Amino acid sequence: MRDETIAIHGGYTADGTRAVAVPIYQTVAHDFIDAAHAGAVLDLEVPGFHYNRINNPTNDVLEKRIAALEGGTAALVVASGMAAVSYAILTVAAPGSNFVVAPQLYGATFTYFAHVLPSLGIEARFARDDSADSIAALMDDRTCAVFCETIGNPAGNVVDLEAVAAVAHGGGVPLMVDNTVATPLLLKPISHGADVVVHSLTKFVGGHGTTLGGAIVDGGTFPWTDHAERFPGFNLPEPAFHDVVFARDFPERPFTVRARSVQLRNTGATLSPLAAFQLLQGLETLSVRLDRHEANARAVADYLANDPRVEWVSFVGFPDHPSYDLAKRYLAGRVPSIITFGAAGGYDAGLAFFDALQLFKRLLNLGDAKSLAIHPASTTHRQLSDDERSAAGIRPETIRLSIGLEHIDDLIEDLDQALAKATT
Ligand SMILES: *Cc1c(COP(=O)(O)O)cnc(C)c1O
Repeated sequence: MRDETIAIHGGYTADGTRAVAVPIYQTVAHDFIDAAHAGAVLDLEVPGFHYNRINNPTNDVLEKRIAALEGGTAALVVASGMAAVSYAILTVAAPGSNFVVAPQLYGATFTYFAHVLPSLGIEARFARDDSADSIAALMDDRTCAVFCETIGNPAGNVVDLEAVAAVAHGGGVPLMVDNTVATPLLLKPISHGADVVVHSLTKFVGGHGTTLGGAIVDGGTFPWTDHAERFPGFNLPEPAFHDVVFARDFPERPFTVRARSVQLRNTGATLSPLAAFQLLQGLETLSVRLDRHEANARAVADYLANDPRVEWVSFVGFPDHPSYDLAKRYLAGRVPSIITFGAAGGYDAGLAFFDALQLFKRLLNLGDAKSLAIHPASTTHRQLSDDERSAAGIRPETIRLSIGLEHIDDLIEDLDQALAKATT
């Protein structure tokens, strides 16, 4: 099946039936046939559902669908993209361990890595840039993962996944990537060496800016048993889950089973089934939306690049973008509908442009049917120091646009009037 079809029909449920979008199964718990059945479900010996914090039939369909699109062995859906990021890290890391990160990150991911995980004794080591060499330089025998965004948000850099995967695997650790901006329709990281993929489903997958959600996809690729000392959580009996040895007992999907049964089960960032249902509806139209997002984005980028009031435009569809060649290689010539640019006049012009927008929404989101704008220096990245901001690729005047599905002429009219106000 091709992606457009997988997004609508893909994946099979545990009983072998196709994972179609079922009506929401709205209940907290699921009844057992008898005690033997209860025991088998609770011990994960047979597939089934018992309590919705851990899984439910609607979320199960979304998991099967995302796993099928990413080419993974299994997926776990959770309440938000940040829950997915945090569960993914906490599934491999332990106090005293570190992980190496490409520096271009979503704002909350940066804050979580830089300022929250250290209090748990887990160190995020920020590489100087997203190159394999810079990442390799920070790895040591306490490193437990390499993490990057496949396309940095908001920086827009496309990571050379195969080179970074080689460095991660050479050091005996998995490559974990956030594939939110690309979506599995533009990029399939597992086929380029990633072992774990996380998503904010809130963005392009949901597509309408109504519903938060996140996912962790297990590539089923990483040889946890070859690195038993570094990953005791996969190789020793797990006291939090009746002494299961995840890598031995669930060799195809140890990561998502461990994330579900240790993190989700006990800390409960559960996606509600109603949210899963809404995200599934979004997923069904993702392919047609992405086409329109891309066409509109190319037209807006051309317009901005030709306007003398605009000082610079960063769009991965332009040959002068530092990631142009990597985008061609990894995204097969497609581009996400994210544009960053700066109007002449620095911070003040950025702010004035932002405040003057009438159609574009001033919103902390991307991948919405509606066109959105943000001025990171005064919003998403305001709590970062100047150095942290510039390491994340943000300038004082930077405006990030997420181009939606409206008529292109209306978008350009709005940009034109806002530029006029910002540059007079
Ligand atoms: C939005 C986003 C997140 C966080 O997702 P939420 O669903 O808002 O929690 C993580 N990573 C990236 C790249 C994002 O764009």
